[in-house]
Amino acid sequence: PLVLGVESTCDETGIALVRGHELLVDRTASSMDQHARYGGIIPEIASRAHLESFLPALEDALATAGVELSEIDAIACSAGPGLIGSLTVGNCGAKTLASALGKPLYGVNHVVGHLAVDQLVDGPFPDRFIGLIVSGGHSNLLLVNDIATDIVELGGTLDDAAGEAFDKVGRLLGLPYPGGPHVDRHGQAGRCDAIKFPRGLSAPKYQEKHRYDFSFSGLKTSVARYIEGLNQQGMELPVDDICASFSEAVNDSLTAKTVQACLDHDIDTIVIGGGFSANSRLRELLSERAAAAGLTVRMPPLRYCTDNGAQIAALGANLVAAGVEPSDWGFSPDSSMPLEVTHI
Ligand code: ATP
Ligand code: FE
Ligand code: MG
Repeated sequence: PLVLGVESTCDETGIALVRGHELLVDRTASSMDQHARYGGIIPEIASRAHLESFLPALEDALATAGVELSEIDAIACSAGPGLIGSLTVGNCGAKTLASALGKPLYGVNHVVGHLAVDQLVDGPFPDRFIGLIVSGGHSNLLLVNDIATDIVELGGTLDDAAGEAFDKVGRLLGLPYPGGPHVDRHGQAGRCDAIKFPRGLSAPKYQEKHRYDFSFSGLKTSVARYIEGLNQQGMELPVDDICASFSEAVNDSLTAKTVQACLDHDIDTIVIGGGFSANSRLRELLSERAAAAGLTVRMPPLRYCTDNGAQIAALGANLVAAGVEPSDWGFSPDSSMPLEVTHI
């Protein structure tokens, strides 16, 4: 079946077409340029941008794929989690299309979509895998028994998400918003053992209750104190070393617990997803540690790490294939959709 995917959780309007695990087209329009000067996403601006981009992106996608609207078999839209205004615009567009075409509509979980997109590149998923979702809003470990119907949340961050922590450290260092990619780039030029920063929830006493949880706010405070200290002494900031050492602390926690989750559950495959899964040190360290433990890591190419329509179409295709009931016409977007809920 041919599935149209509509993404609109935040600042990206994504439209994509997927047939099975084959991606026909993926179009993204971002309003990030309009938010950057505010140092954060302005929801009203994001909603308006979705309204402006939706139809042009749709027309462009259909023309590029050489597909007529009537050929679409099902429509999937991100129903949450995300900004309610942004979601509402995308969901209205998707509902209108589905009702006019008389096709089933699936309101899907955007975050689960971050994992689903990997199938479009690396093929069908194994029976079970450990999913590491790392993005601007999430840092979670999932036990995925079936991407369409059976996801168990093993743990997640108690405070900041990995991308959020990177963005905050970027701000402390005066780097442009969003800081994540800039901190990553500076870190590549620095020494990861230059400064000793703490690893949250790694002490043995946390091994029971917080075995699969993360905490990055203490680390962020520790980076802030380090910067303050140097500023007070009028010393120049070793930006590259700070970024490398901070990045190492975040990625040490993420990768250690991901490998641990595999060993604990006798699972041999890891799938990563979300904007932060573009992080160079995460990809490097996870590859090393997984290989050492005899595990396979599946990492989507960088263009599918940040928000896109392909992830929504991919998850929609999984739901159709699993024979899941379409969503009720009257559904509302859910800004805090739980991770174990794949669709609304
Ligand atoms: P969610 O998916 O949880 O709803 P989101 O959609 O806002 O959150 P994404 O768009 O998936 O998040 O990811 C954006 C985040 O990824 C930002 O915090 C950004 O700084 C971060 N990011 C992107 N590339 C990198 C990188 N190379 N290194 C570190 N962080 C990065
Ligand atoms: Fe996202
Ligand atoms: Mg985004």
